[in-house]
Amino acid sequence: MTELSRKERSAMARTAMPERDGRARATTFDEVNLGFTEELAILEASRCLRCPRPKCIEGCPVGVRIDEFIIAIADGAFDRAAEIVSEDNSLPAVCGRVCPQESQCEGACVLSRKERPIAIGHLERFVADRAGSSDPVRSSAAPKRSGFSVGVVGSGPAGLACAFDLARAGHAVTVYEALHEPGGVLVYGIPEYRLPKAVVAAEVDRLRRNGVTFEMNVPIGNAESIDDLLDRHDAVFIGVGAGLPRFLDVPGEHLVGVLSANEFLTRVNLMRGYDEGSNTPIPDVVDRRVAVIGGGNTALDAVRTALRLGARDATVYYRRTEDEMPARREEIRHAREEGVHFEFLVNPGAFRGEEGWLHTMELERMRLGEPDADGRRRPEPIDGTRVDVPVDVVVIAVGNAPNPTLARTPGLALSPRGTIVVDGETGMTSRRGVFAGGDIVTGGATVILAMGAGRRAASAISNFLQEGSEGDSSDAASTGPGWLPTPSR
Ligand code: FAD
Ligand code: SF4
Repeated sequence: MTELSRKERSAMARTAMPERDGRARATTFDEVNLGFTEELAILEASRCLRCPRPKCIEGCPVGVRIDEFIIAIADGAFDRAAEIVSEDNSLPAVCGRVCPQESQCEGACVLSRKERPIAIGHLERFVADRAGSSDPVRSSAAPKRSGFSVGVVGSGPAGLACAFDLARAGHAVTVYEALHEPGGVLVYGIPEYRLPKAVVAAEVDRLRRNGVTFEMNVPIGNAESIDDLLDRHDAVFIGVGAGLPRFLDVPGEHLVGVLSANEFLTRVNLMRGYDEGSNTPIPDVVDRRVAVIGGGNTALDAVRTALRLGARDATVYYRRTEDEMPARREEIRHAREEGVHFEFLVNPGAFRGEEGWLHTMELERMRLGEPDADGRRRPEPIDGTRVDVPVDVVVIAVGNAPNPTLARTPGLALSPRGTIVVDGETGMTSRRGVFAGGDIVTGGATVILAMGAGRRAASAISNFLQEGSEGDSSDAASTGPGWLPTPSR
């Protein structure tokens, strides 16, 4: 492509992602976004203004050198682009698909002022998919073995990112995962049509090739404790996520037909509940009316999944307006195109049924009041507006809390919310040599924030191991970190 002036680049339209047709795709679990071709990737990359101080990088929680990889794409140097991305992001094919770029790198891109930021996520996905199972980072020399061993609990994005960096630093790493497949929410939560399982499996394989060992079906906190792991390893990272579903605490939530989004999505995604060959039961949604309560990514994943399973009507009920929905804009648009309905400013007050089976949901109209602590306007009920709506299945998607399995670990300080308390810079917990990161520390957040926490902890673990081997370890082992309060349990 001939060299373009800055003005010409700024005037170019953003390249659209090719996608499957809306109604047709609503009946399959095939991936919705089809990915850029080489020509589209070069076209989009050529829009980049090559800013001397690229704002996009400031918006990336793991600090990918975005400007450099985009320039490499524009030059047709795709392998080089993949190498640059992989140096800072161990799950680029995942992040290119599910990161909320609009509030991160793309939100920070100077062209977002014109509402045409560079499609950084789509370009990241392009280079990662093109690299496929090849391993750009591995082409550099294998790291020297450090002689240290680290146990990582949980194989979600936090655990995987931490494990990857630890392995690259030469440590022996074992990941312990409670479920039978690695990936955390990437495999049990996010559906196939948004993030194919094969993409996650390829990223996990790359970790295996870099020397990481995985032990599946091992829930730490039950048969084995953190202390058992500390007997076997020199340090431990906890990345167990926040997988305990929250409920509404209203009458009738126990009825058959009301279930959490976690249960619904796990049964469909991880245990292939839709497949006749699997033994996993899922609620019969074929030709049924399915109501999903909530406004985040989880709610949209549940409602679009219900539609794909054959629901007659699939509706999201949200207590604020579309503007306050935490879900990604692309997901909302995709859902609408597929035929999902939305009801805003409504809240369920009760579920009713007969002989234990759900048949109606009581809804109350809401209006928006003053902003609450997180800056969003608080929904308030409008008196005298309750109505009963017929419904067959209700999926509750109003957030998750930390799983309490590790709460009994002696000396591990927890916040009143049940999240693990850590040092903000290193991720070290109140237990010396035990680090934590991801949703178990922040509460439900995003893939890239969990990965950023995993990477920071990996670097702190390397320092900790190095310092321990240089100093008097017997002395150090007897004292806890001074920055934390005395653990209450
Ligand atoms: P998790 O991904 O939850 O992984 C934790 C892992 O630890 C799990 O595999 C779990 O089985 C394992 N584990 C738990 N307890 C134990 C134990 N005791 N012993 C051993 N293993 C254990 N974020 C985005 O950025 N974009 C999206 O589009 C998006 N969509 C989402 C859709 C859904 C349905 C959900 C639920 C979340 C979504 N998120 C999204 C949020 C994002 O997935 C999470 O913030 C992220 O996965 C957190 O990573 P993590 O590693 O901390 O935890
Ligand atoms: Fe390119 Fe936008 Fe980054 Fe500037 S801020 S270097 S235009 S991606």
